[in-house]
Amino acid sequence: MDDIIRAATICTQIWGGMNNILLSVGGDRTSLSSQLTKRFGVDFLAPVVESEETAAFIKEHERIRPTPFMAREDIVMTTVHGRAYSVVDMNGPLYEHWRREVRHGMSRDAFKPFWRSDDPLAGVYSVLFGRYPEPGDSLPTTEKSFELLVPRSLDLSSSDVPREMAMAISPIRATNLALRSWRSFGDYDDGVVIGDASSVDDLIDFWNLRASGADVSFWPSAYEGRLRDFNAGQIELVSNKGSDRVVGAVVGFLGVDDPEERVTLELPPELVAAVPADTNIAVARHGDWMWSDPTVGGPAPRAEQHTVIGAVDTLEDLMRIHVQLADPPFPDALAEGLVEGSQYWVCSVEPYSSFTESSESTLSLPFLPELNEWYARQMTVSEPFGLRVQPDGFDLIRSVYSNTLELWALNKRSLAARLFELGGLELHPSTPGHIADRVIGVLGGMRGSRFLRIPGVRKLLESERARTGITPGHATEIIKDRQPQSRKTGFDLLKESLFYWRQLTASDVLSHLLAQDVFRPGLRGLCPNCRLTTVIEADQIGAELTCPACAHRFSLATHLRNSEWVLSLSGVFQHESRREGAIPCVLTMGEILRSAAVFGGQIMLTAHDVKASGLDCETDFIYIELDRHHRPSVCIGECKGLGQIDEQDITNLVSVRKKLRDARIECYLAFGVLRPAFFNDEIAIFKRLLLQFNNEEALHREPHQLSSASGPVLFTSGELEADPWEARPAPEGLPHSHPHGLRDLAENSAALYLY
Ligand SMILES: [Zn+2]
Repeated sequence: MDDIIRAATICTQIWGGMNNILLSVGGDRTSLSSQLTKRFGVDFLAPVVESEETAAFIKEHERIRPTPFMAREDIVMTTVHGRAYSVVDMNGPLYEHWRREVRHGMSRDAFKPFWRSDDPLAGVYSVLFGRYPEPGDSLPTTEKSFELLVPRSLDLSSSDVPREMAMAISPIRATNLALRSWRSFGDYDDGVVIGDASSVDDLIDFWNLRASGADVSFWPSAYEGRLRDFNAGQIELVSNKGSDRVVGAVVGFLGVDDPEERVTLELPPELVAAVPADTNIAVARHGDWMWSDPTVGGPAPRAEQHTVIGAVDTLEDLMRIHVQLADPPFPDALAEGLVEGSQYWVCSVEPYSSFTESSESTLSLPFLPELNEWYARQMTVSEPFGLRVQPDGFDLIRSVYSNTLELWALNKRSLAARLFELGGLELHPSTPGHIADRVIGVLGGMRGSRFLRIPGVRKLLESERARTGITPGHATEIIKDRQPQSRKTGFDLLKESLFYWRQLTASDVLSHLLAQDVFRPGLRGLCPNCRLTTVIEADQIGAELTCPACAHRFSLATHLRNSEWVLSLSGVFQHESRREGAIPCVLTMGEILRSAAVFGGQIMLTAHDVKASGLDCETDFIYIELDRHHRPSVCIGECKGLGQIDEQDITNLVSVRKKLRDARIECYLAFGVLRPAFFNDEIAIFKRLLLQFNNEEALHREPHQLSSASGPVLFTSGELEADPWEARPAPEGLPHSHPHGLRDLAENSAALYLY
């Protein structure tokens, strides 16, 4: 009990201290404590008592979230001014509250209770109201700052707690000044909990329930009289909170662990007598199981959010962001020197992704706390333990006196490699990947690559004539893609089924390709000397020409009559064997991006080799999607033009998927072909994958979603040749008419190709 009282005393002096959780270590609740540590994303474990058990527990959990607190600080540090807490204490917030509200008479009442140390309710009072250190205690105290609120002093050992104190600011409630909590569903637990005043477990459960966002008070079963009026006030307060509340107040019974246990949960008559008869009261059991509720351990409370402008400078492919922090939560207290400058606090950063994304770098970090140190070493080199990733951004742990932030955006390729490394996989750039990068680059990025959806464009890029020299007129004809059995061209047929492309002509398409330098112009003609037909490149043309075959020089003027301008494929398209594989990959990448979930940013990379012990394979692309909680999903796959997808390749990708999923990274497989349909044996394999994956648990699940993992994402020419500009709905009868993200795509694919 003394330990709990000391923990409550420490938390009362720390800003946000009411939201810290208390853990019991060494006894039968150690594993529950371990679960809570993970659940709440605890960064800093401070031992209230130094023992072998606490040391072992801290050592075990340091590995989960290495942050500066855990790595090198104690909760109390020695500064030039004496001893102080190592995180921001209550002096600043209380001074600011006094300046802004109390001195203008705007604050709620405050009260400062005290009691005899041998009072049987000493533990209850300490956790319920907070406590300041006794004179002579080695802990630093913020009691003087609390006096600024002119609190009413109350001796709780000689009188009951008055009803109106339920509305007043107690020392522990003051720790939430200037903080906002992100409570989601937490308030279904608001009310009173009934427990045993002498039970350490009950007091810890009460504390942690309140730390997870519930507005609760404590009803000590053998001593109810002393808190009866106060608790009646609390029930009234909670019941009047808002019209949207389903229940007025919840009375929870602590320590009723077994839901099957036949315990009659009867409200104490004292409590029933103290509240109005029409009060809407619900009764609940509070056992260890309540800590597995999904709403427990949400984001930590934060001070008011500010928008600040950052300066971004780009050095080659690296992006550096420089931010001047504005408006600290208590500027006056800082100016008055009331805040110890070396104390830590946390700056939460929620980047606006459109400004901090480039093709090479990003500030959207996958929510993987095990990468905290790695992120920090990449982004804030001088503070390798000062970053913790959050579901909506990241936090930088800094001392109060630092007023600027400097960050390097994260390189997307390094990030992808690091994610694969978590699954024990090495990622290596491959030659097909470099070629696809060049194809995308030459066509003008993923936007320009959409022209590859036009079959006539692909025919042109694959034609032998285009490599050796083709006239613009002939090139336009190939783009038009004349159909032998129809009076209409393939281009016309394509346009009829599309919306945005209806206005486009074949020569517009050729103009785009010319503007992107896909072709080199040259003059084709007969050499007067060797009589061979050659193409002289445009930049070799002057008043005199040199024959590339025989080096004979002759005048342009005489040559013009027998020559014509032609176009030859340039760069990466010149080498026929290389570009063919790239085109279906680029189209598949484009189709995935078209339905990309836009919550947390995405990464799309071209082909890579993936290696692990006993595994050496290739993926034709790597796509990483972050969901709304920044949890990463990886998509890898195989793309073919007309050829068949190789079964061994699929088996390899399934192995990669398993390794990533073993590292808690969701993984999807995607397959794209430029045919109207998959082959029967391909479909048979995909059906097997669907069955197999559907039997696995999905790693990132929203509450409303099915819990099984999704089958493969599948594309044929039906998707890959469709109009990329139109927000076209999926064919009728599919689960998602406007698919958004990998999961939707996979569910549509199953319905379209596999059922
Ligand atoms: Zn010649």
